Amino acid sequence: MRRIRPVLVLLLSLAAMTAHAQDKPRTALVIHGGAGVIERSALSAEDERAVRADLERALDAGNAVLQRGGTALDAVQAAVLVLEDSPRFNAGKGAVFAADGSHQLDAAVMEGHTLRAGAVAGVTTVRNPVLLARAVMEHSPHVMLAGAGAEAFADTRPEIARVPNTWFDTEARRRQLERARERERAGQAGIPTERGVYFGTVGAVALDVHGHIAVATSTGGMTNKKWNRIGDSPVIGAGTYANAQCGVSGTGWGEYYIRAAVAHDICARVAYRGDALAEAAEEVVNRVVPALGGDGGAIALDREGNIAMPFNTPGMYRGWIRPDGSRGVAIYADED
Ligand code: ASP
Repeated sequence: MRRIRPVLVLLLSLAAMTAHAQDKPRTALVIHGGAGVIERSALSAEDERAVRADLERALDAGNAVLQRGGTALDAVQAAVLVLEDSPRFNAGKGAVFAADGSHQLDAAVMEGHTLRAGAVAGVTTVRNPVLLARAVMEHSPHVMLAGAGAEAFADTRPEIARVPNTWFDTEARRRQLERARERERAGQAGIPTERGVYFGTVGAVALDVHGHIAVATSTGGMTNKKWNRIGDSPVIGAGTYANAQCGVSGTGWGEYYIRAAVAHDICARVAYRGDALAEAAEEVVNRVVPALGGDGGAIALDREGNIAMPFNTPGMYRGWIRPDGSRGVAIYADED
């Protein structure tokens, strides 16, 4: 007996450790910084390093929330805030220019287990549109506010930082507008709608320790857009959607993402048909959207922490932290 007891104690503590490891809540996070023509030749080594560093910072910000037991909603907000504040993505600072030389920003958030959602479209003075989208969800009886009305709602929320519209300017985006105007003068499409143009929207999907999923997406839309064009990003079910099983943030040619209800279609395939997340995301992004003539990518996450990041463009800025803690960032199609 004297010799058996230590062995028993060891076995029992091993069993307890294994049970504890199994009980450890699983969190996961996936982010994107837009899909499009992102080719090695087009990105300087310095730009590439800076983009990867921004993606890492966004992962860190979201993951810090998840690791301290915070909500998926707070995590996706934290990640998207980093990307909105970086001038390298088409969201917040660094957003593209519309045809009239202004910036018109769209964003949305959604919480899967409650199906609560908030969105804003065409805002011009809100430094971080993701925060206003969340305020719409939490402090208004509505889901989506646009233009002057969204600005008036922002006036009622002192915590929402405001900036002059020119604050979003960057030289790179101004050059993109000039190129688009030249194309337009030459009789080509004013909005660069040829397949695979560079987009740059940002988004995040997270799974928290409570098993809840949330998603956020933010964008400046498309260069040279006219007539208060609104893309898929703030449209719940198109560029942004979450339910109890799944969350999706899209990036791509918004007109097609709206028509195909991309984010909802991916989650519906998982929820109603029991499709594996990767299969559902792949089918919608690589078959449904291209069959209509559109292109882009999406990030998706399910309740088990499975992650999918399909895209049909040369690249998609992306980053992930899986439930086992493994993480990475990638840009081109041949990485991961
Ligand atoms: N989907 C966005 C839009 O059409 C653009 C993007 O993803 O970069 O507004």
